Amino acid sequence: MRAAAAELGVATDARTAHGAVLRAASGGGPPSGVSAVVEDLRAAGLLRELRTVESAQGAHVRLDGRDVLLLCSNDYLGLAEDPRVRDAAARAVHEWGAGAGASRLVSGNMTPHRELEAELAAFKGTEACVLFGSGFLANTGVVAALAGPGEVVVSDALNHASIVDGCRLAQAETIVYPHADLDGLAAALDRAAGRRATIVTDSVFSMDGDVAPLHGIVELARRHGARVIVDEAHATGVIGPAGRGLVAELGLEGEIDVVVGTLSKALGSYGAFACCSAELATFLVNRARTVIFSTGLPPSCVAAAGEALRILRNEPRVVGRLHANARALRAELAAQGLAVEPGDMPIVPLVIGDPEAAMGLCEAALDRGVFAQAIRPPTVPDGTSRLRLVAMASHTEAELRDAARVLGALTG
Ligand SMILES: *Cc1c(COP(=O)(O)O)cnc(C)c1O
Repeated sequence: MRAAAAELGVATDARTAHGAVLRAASGGGPPSGVSAVVEDLRAAGLLRELRTVESAQGAHVRLDGRDVLLLCSNDYLGLAEDPRVRDAAARAVHEWGAGAGASRLVSGNMTPHRELEAELAAFKGTEACVLFGSGFLANTGVVAALAGPGEVVVSDALNHASIVDGCRLAQAETIVYPHADLDGLAAALDRAAGRRATIVTDSVFSMDGDVAPLHGIVELARRHGARVIVDEAHATGVIGPAGRGLVAELGLEGEIDVVVGTLSKALGSYGAFACCSAELATFLVNRARTVIFSTGLPPSCVAAAGEALRILRNEPRVVGRLHANARALRAELAAQGLAVEPGDMPIVPLVIGDPEAAMGLCEAALDRGVFAQAIRPPTVPDGTSRLRLVAMASHTEAELRDAARVLGALTG
């Protein structure tokens, strides 16, 4: 794995998610021993601590005793707190019980699971769909199941950690290509020569909000006879017609072997799915270990996501509201002199660089009522610590502009 990646010039690049994994695997990381690890992290300004939200989710939350504007949630459409979604979850608890009780292959596959799979397949324009317990479980399960021994899995350097771990679990060789780089992808596929390749990429990248060059990826995949897995965690409900994702936006439905998405972000619930052909769905139910050996989703999570999908179908304007808010946030940040491009994407990275400086800005913004958690390595590459701002449809443009002015004053 390391030799192959080195040829593409990324194996020793510890700044990427894959690089961090390689570094840890190679034993060059922090000293072993729990307290040494914690002390090392503290010294490097990288120690993480959990904050507590003491209210329901929403555009405003109570955070550790303070009322703040929430500017770092993936609940893009505000559906986690929508009364219709909450009611659907509550009704499902009463009708179907609190849990599924077993894995889906034993006795945990229930009517709500089947119904949601059919709705998601229609939403994503595929023949079939398989629900998973979470996005993390979907990616580890799908990548490891599809990329077998003697094969190659080809992964973008900035893919989500769950894809990185899917590559680690797969018995295929992993080749990492430089972020969103089609020449690098072509070189990786050339290296695979003769072996079956599976290309895997986020569609919208979680920490930068940029998009994968899917047309080019599909074209290269076709030329090399490779499979493609696309993770639409941050695209589902966020872009494309009625929020159907980047694959639909680009007219590539039917061209992607597996489209993964989560129920936990724009759909406001919890869980995930893989949309694919009926044959691949059968394969996944038989080979994805995270389906076989993990309990089915609670019916309330399934029902909540189903209601969120209905809202999206009946009121696609909510996606337009999200885009308008993203444009307002971006415009005011740019007016404040920050390096932010115009656009519709709700993920807006304010890259600071140094982890302690990013934490300092985060705390100063909190003191002024704006909550945008600082994101540090290994979630983002070394030297790119940032505030990852996220606009939601449930914000008002005025409060986003106010927040941008707070951030502008603190960084100016
Ligand atoms: C959040 C995320 C996941 C994991 O989804 P969960 O349902 O939170 O486990 C997978 N892929 C990407 C790109 C993500 O951002």
